[in-house]
Amino acid sequence: MNLNESDKQLLGKVEELSGENAFSCYQCGKCSAGCPFTEEMDLLPNQVIRKVQMGDASVLEAETPWICASCLSCEVDCPKGNDVPAIMEAIREISLRENFDEVNLNELDASDLPEIALVSNLRKKTG
Ligand code: SF4
Ligand code: SF4
Repeated sequence: MNLNESDKQLLGKVEELSGENAFSCYQCGKCSAGCPFTEEMDLLPNQVIRKVQMGDASVLEAETPWICASCLSCEVDCPKGNDVPAIMEAIREISLRENFDEVNLNELDASDLPEIALVSNLRKKTG
């Protein structure tokens, strides 16, 4: 596969932040088969990794990394032991570094939310 410089940059950033080798994924799909949140996702977890392998920056606009609950089910199921949630986290970090906040806490109706949900949103979804 021939990647241009910007493709390589995204791939390199994700690999650096996650500590994972994206190409150790061979797209068997077991991570997606066992993920409990795929119905809410716009890309399956293995599709997220495929986009990272291709350096496809559209992955930064996907909902899936924000839906991922870091439950580790995919990592347990992966025959290569790939840390998929770390890749999701790296994608979130790259988005947040571009000053993009997934939620605006000032606009959030917090009346019915437990405090832990607010703290979690603050840590995970804002830069
Ligand atoms: S289970 Fe592992 S090797 Fe298979 S698609 Fe998912 S990350 Fe890739
Ligand atoms: S860690 Fe994320 S991608 Fe993996 S199974 Fe859990 S919710 Fe799905």
